[in-house]
Amino acid sequence: MRPFNYHRPERVEEALALAGPDSRYIAGGTNLLDLMKENVLHPRQLIDINRLPLRRIEETPGGGLMVGSLVSNADLAWNQQVEQRYPLLSKAILAGASPQLRNMASTGGNLLQRTRCYYFYDTGTPCNKREPGTGCPARDGLNRMHAILGASEACVAVHPSDMCVALAALEAQVHVQGPHGKRSIAMADFHRLPGDRPDADNTLAEGELIVAVELPAAGFAQHSAYLKLRDRASYAFALISVAAALELDGSTIKAARLALGGVAHKPWRIEAAEQALVGKPADETSFAVAADQLLAGAQPLQHNAFKPELARRAIIRALGEAAGGAAR
Ligand SMILES: Cc1cc2nc3c(=O)[nH]c(=O)nc-3n(C[C@H](O)[C@H](O)[C@H](O)COP(=O)(O)OP(=O)(O)OC[C@H]3O[C@@H](n4cnc5c(N)ncnc54)[C@H](O)[C@@H]3O)c2cc1C
Ligand code: SF4
Repeated sequence: MRPFNYHRPERVEEALALAGPDSRYIAGGTNLLDLMKENVLHPRQLIDINRLPLRRIEETPGGGLMVGSLVSNADLAWNQQVEQRYPLLSKAILAGASPQLRNMASTGGNLLQRTRCYYFYDTGTPCNKREPGTGCPARDGLNRMHAILGASEACVAVHPSDMCVALAALEAQVHVQGPHGKRSIAMADFHRLPGDRPDADNTLAEGELIVAVELPAAGFAQHSAYLKLRDRASYAFALISVAAALELDGSTIKAARLALGGVAHKPWRIEAAEQALVGKPADETSFAVAADQLLAGAQPLQHNAFKPELARRAIIRALGEAAGGAAR
């Protein structure tokens, strides 16, 4: 048993004042408590943020929605506005975890959940993400779940979130508050590739608290799809997931968004792949071109050589579903 202090602030400023190098915020606890029990993390201080006033979903002046960071995954997925205006997000959230976990898990916590790389959770093995400089056994070990894009010598882990893949396609903004003030981070810049700092999953500074996630007005409600492929039909992390969103003029694509999960250290988006769809007919030929662009440079590992082809087919199928069943 490792002792830790526990605080339950009522105000954001109070929470920020408590934050320090050995402290962690705790929301639903569905990831952090596992990491503590597995001895991967041992914070000296827990700051329970559940009493902070961050549980609302509100309209923004720009026509979008501002989602408080403590809104549970279940409340967000079943919110009527989200279901109607951002079905892509709703479906992505419901594809993840279990009803019980979604009741506990928060919006902010989902963004900050750690990788599911087996070695990261096994303190009997080295791991550059857990202990920088110790090595990456996944590179030549069990790597079926691991990255095919954007990986580095130091780490081949993937980000496990479903919700974040949809948020990337929707171009959400993450609003944070820290010791040095408030700022907002584009979803594309929130998570990072591992490079030589795989211990850093994201671009948050020490002590910064996620206060909200903003959904822009464009929800692609008419033409979007979230497709998740995994080893079993429910309660499993994605081998590949695709968030696809289209704006159509008849059968011609006016705008497209495409993000992949299960392939990289962050939701994988390449603007050129989306641009390749603009002005093209919504058919399998166009979708295949975009898939090839999005997957360009993919480097599978020993046990996940199936991923590039699986991803290619999943992208084509998801775009087809988004377009309204035009492709298989
Ligand atoms: C068995 C199981 C299956 C799962 N399956 C899936 C799945 O299929 N798809 C999927 O997407 N997810 C899945 N999850 C992950 C789950 O979605 C996350 O554990 C959850 O979203 C984390 O949210 P939380 O509020 O519980 O975070 P916590 O565990 O409380 O915190 C996680 C991290 O975020 C930090 N944090 C939390 N809130 C804030 C904030 N507002 N500001 C700054 N830091 C903060 C904490 O300090 C901690 O480091 C699964 C989890 C489990 C246990
Ligand atoms: S892939 Fe990353 S998380 Fe997994 S063992 Fe290697 S360094 Fe650790």
